[in-house]
Amino acid sequence: MFFDPNEFRITGTFVWYYFICTREVWLLSRGITPDQQDDNIDIGRFLHENAYSREKKEVDFYGMKLDIIKKENDQLIIGEIKKSSKYMESARMQLLHYLNELEEQGIHAEGVLLVPEEKKRETVVLNEESRKKLSEAIKGITEVISVDVPPEPKRINYCKNCAYSELCWA
Ligand code: SF4
Repeated sequence: MFFDPNEFRITGTFVWYYFICTREVWLLSRGITPDQQDDNIDIGRFLHENAYSREKKEVDFYGMKLDIIKKENDQLIIGEIKKSSKYMESARMQLLHYLNELEEQGIHAEGVLLVPEEKKRETVVLNEESRKKLSEAIKGITEVISVDVPPEPKRINYCKNCAYSELCWA
């Protein structure tokens, strides 16, 4: 199958997984779908369960799935409500990616991540440092998906929840 990384749109999901497992990024990029019968895990369920379900009213905004869209003092705020801060780095970078996508459309917003069960609130903004980190991540993702073979699996805690577990470790 011919794969052109230049034609590929890097979505927030790829940014999220990049900070968990680059092999998963590659597998997703090729549309390799895990065994749907494996109710051990599936990606949608995993993401859903890592969201904070009690207050979750997800909204589709410019193709982004968001839990929070509001205005505060004329400032647009977008964000997500998480069940725990376990994958905060992924959540932060995904939100930065969303902020950046909005900015490219002329919409300036700030991000917020809430973890109610841990009483945590984190503001996420595009600044010089976060832009640099996001740009490095996008470059890294492009490098991962540009090669013809996936990175070797590396066993991490996430593997036990991963939809590709059987593919990687059977
Ligand atoms: S099972 Fe582990 S190594 Fe394989 S894609 Fe999932 S997280 Fe990555």
